[in-house]
Amino acid sequence: MINILANDGISQAGIDALTEKGFKVITEKVAQEDLINAINTKKYEVLLVRSATTVRKDLIDSCPHLKLVGRGGVGMDNIDVEYAKEKGINVINTPAASSSSVAELVFAHLFGMVRFLFDSNRQMPMVGDADFKSLKKSYANGRELSGKTLGIIGFGRIGQEVAKRAIGLGMKVIAHDKFIEEANITLDFFNGDKKSFTIETESLKEVLKNSDFITIHVPKIGNKSVIGAEEIGMMKTGAGIVNTSRGGVIDETALMFALDKEKLAYAGLDVFDNEPNPSIHICMHNAISLTPHIGAATLEAQDRIGTELADQISSHFSK
Ligand code: NAD
Repeated sequence: MINILANDGISQAGIDALTEKGFKVITEKVAQEDLINAINTKKYEVLLVRSATTVRKDLIDSCPHLKLVGRGGVGMDNIDVEYAKEKGINVINTPAASSSSVAELVFAHLFGMVRFLFDSNRQMPMVGDADFKSLKKSYANGRELSGKTLGIIGFGRIGQEVAKRAIGLGMKVIAHDKFIEEANITLDFFNGDKKSFTIETESLKEVLKNSDFITIHVPKIGNKSVIGAEEIGMMKTGAGIVNTSRGGVIDETALMFALDKEKLAYAGLDVFDNEPNPSIHICMHNAISLTPHIGAATLEAQDRIGTELADQISSHFSK
């Protein structure tokens, strides 16, 4: 029997699918420093991780029985993918499983920011009973998303899922992508109707200049930010920005400066520099809607991740 260690957990749907196919799945969490020993003594041939466990060269070199490393989710920055492959270890991930959940979180931030929910949820428990009228006044100048322009930077899987939801809300969608020139977006409605839209991407400058809200869905490449002071300078005054991609893709210092100077009205962040210890200044900022990297963390996405991993693992071992 092939033993699988799911070190950062796996959904019950994934466990069921794997068990049904004859694999043994262990979900006990092994501390990073004990992982090599556990893999070797328990003879795990498959290691499944999310973002918490790292799979570096030392582990790859020290675990000769390891055949497959699976990442539940997209980003593989916690795995030395090329090195693993050189050493004959297959590496898989589930790139599409969480696109819808990240896209929905973008709208959670956008809806929250235009009505100041992130701040009113902080203030109401403290002074809501005594200062109701003044809070009502503070949050009076809300805005609607409908009719506004959403600029999507990075028009891959998540960017296109975001576009569908934005179109559904009556927003105008413009997009920039380094490699994709146009994308065909199909909206599926509850009654079986479908409606397709072709969106041609534009330059980063055009998208920044013309958007009321910007949302970023690019991978992190190196340490260079995609949105820094210069790019923020090109945006509309009073715009909002959401980052659910990776910490560092927006320059946090430039972002805080722009919020303090009211160049930007608000930001929504799910990802941060220096996770899991983000800047306290970012966390306390009263114009930033915050979530602790939960973009993919819906039950539905975890189920899709689990069953997608199970399918790929079983086809790997049936070859
Ligand atoms: P994807 O590969 O499908 O799309 C990324 C797109 O960005 C591609 O089309 C690519 O051409 C484009 N791109 C790359 N560099 C660019 C640049 N400098 N400027 C403009 N476009 C650029 O990836 P995806 O599945 O849509 O994921 C996007 C991001 O979301 C990744 O960074 C991923 O790590 C992150 N993510 C976050 C969470 C979360 O929990 N918050 C969950 C899943 C994915």
